[in-house]
Amino acid sequence: MSRRAVALVASLGALAVIAALGACTPSYIKSQRKALGSALPATLEARKQWDGEPRIARVRVYADADYRAQHLHWKQTFGDQLDYANQMLVPMLGVRLEAEYLEWDRRAPDASLRDDLQVLSQLDPGDDVAFVIGLTSALPLVSATMDELGVAELLGPHLMLRGYADLEERKAFARAFPDLDQAERDEVHDARRRHKETVVLVHELAHSLGAIHETDPAWLLHPSYSAQQTGISDRNRELMMIAIEDRLKPADARDPRGTYGRILDAIEREDWGGWDADEKAAMVAGLRADIAAIDAGLTASPVPAAALAQYQHAEKLARAARFDEALAELDPIIAAYPANAQIRLLACQIQLAARGPKDEQAAQVCERAAELAPADPGPYIAIATSLLGAGDVPAALAQLDLAKARISNLTEGRGDAWLQLAAIYQGLGSLTWTEDAIAQSGVADHPIARWAASTRARYGVPRDGKKFKIAPDNEAALVAAVREILDLVYASKLDAAERAARKAEKTWPGAPGLLAARCDLAMRRKHEAEAKKLCRRAISAYDGTAWAHYLLGILIMRSPSQTPAGIDELRAAIAVDPDLGQAWRALAKAYDRIKDDAALDELRKGYLERFGQALPP
Ligand SMILES: [Zn+2]
Repeated sequence: MSRRAVALVASLGALAVIAALGACTPSYIKSQRKALGSALPATLEARKQWDGEPRIARVRVYADADYRAQHLHWKQTFGDQLDYANQMLVPMLGVRLEAEYLEWDRRAPDASLRDDLQVLSQLDPGDDVAFVIGLTSALPLVSATMDELGVAELLGPHLMLRGYADLEERKAFARAFPDLDQAERDEVHDARRRHKETVVLVHELAHSLGAIHETDPAWLLHPSYSAQQTGISDRNRELMMIAIEDRLKPADARDPRGTYGRILDAIEREDWGGWDADEKAAMVAGLRADIAAIDAGLTASPVPAAALAQYQHAEKLARAARFDEALAELDPIIAAYPANAQIRLLACQIQLAARGPKDEQAAQVCERAAELAPADPGPYIAIATSLLGAGDVPAALAQLDLAKARISNLTEGRGDAWLQLAAIYQGLGSLTWTEDAIAQSGVADHPIARWAASTRARYGVPRDGKKFKIAPDNEAALVAAVREILDLVYASKLDAAERAARKAEKTWPGAPGLLAARCDLAMRRKHEAEAKKLCRRAISAYDGTAWAHYLLGILIMRSPSQTPAGIDELRAAIAVDPDLGQAWRALAKAYDRIKDDAALDELRKGYLERFGQALPP
């Protein structure tokens, strides 16, 4: 995380109210007693309960010279503070803090807490502990309204805390309650002190575990302290739970990429107005930037120049299916550049081509490539392609999802990677996934995109086809079903076509492509009125159903007087499916019939351009 420091600011609102009470009369003392009672702090509580054994989180505590001077028994003082915090942290996070104490040879009374934090993180990186806490002097209470009581690195292990300004706080309390006896006053004050110290400590620990400021002043993650604060929201607790799991591990076993990703998911999963909106946005942006920075270092680096000739030779051999020779060519450069993921990736592709996706050795080589460049989509695309070749579509789709999630990591070749994916999805017949991949590639008017558009139109498959139970993973099956019905119709197997239509309608009720195919079937059966009705239904379900427009145009033009209306349908068919040659030819006849030579001329030119041949006379 971009080590952003956050501060807890004290607010002494409750004290100010007490101090504003009037002169000393018996009723005043009574009201003062009442005010004193209300000055008692709230009880801290853990909302969600951890039910397992608490884990030990080790903490290294550094007390600077001023802190030690102000707190004679400083280990005891801070130890008590930790105990109170543990009473909340054990049930909330399943974590008990255990401290070791060190004297910090630092005396910088004028330094800001952020300066202190910087020095502390250089002194102790905290690789072997969950938290590193620095303790420094309290500030005089005079400037308390905007005081910093503590700071923490957001998602970093370092915290700085100021000591409690006991003397000043007591004086202020005594001034507010001059007529109460000392014992009574001390009791309330001690409770307030415990509450405040614990809240400040837990607040900063929470930031260290990713918690974001909250807008409700009653929550402990509010930017201002209040004696009424009782706990931490479930959403912040969720972030803390994710971070603590990672933090409990030694530094070299921690997974910042995964942890940032999980925290990002947890923040974005569901909108929540309880967080400070600006800080939440900054946190999300910071996490994204950090993840991108980590990933940029984890995609496959290019093949070193010295190995390029051999690499390309191996590629050439592989294309010629001379797999053993290709691998033999790669072996020495793998040995020379064992950490180069790109070379391993080629080895993975060759192994898959030679042995198939289920082969143990191929799997190992590909796994190694993925390990070397965990953020690179290459190995997953290679495995998916191979799985498709072996006919295992579900497994291939899972690999493609892994690949998709990684393409944005590539610093170059993103467009090509998306085109590769588009071609794979095209092979699977999924129109939506193909279109999405093409859109990501940034290539305008790609032949694959034209294929998808034309297939949608020809077989009546709307992009948003949920109400017909059309989904990206069953589009190919719908296209095949429509095609089967039409094939049966054109083979004059009308009863078989009827059965096939009925069966398909169970899966995709009301699908425009099926209505168009039924229109065709009715037409063959010479049920003209029914056919028109079916084509119109197909068009109203999805205006892009080219086949329905085409058939309807033909049907309408059976009455010569209706030719212009028929022309409209044919033009609509061509507009959504320009490759539908039948529609062009029917339109030519229609123009001829109404003697529109200009339109016919225009159509001939367009036909020649699109189909590379003259429109038949
Ligand atoms: Zn804070």
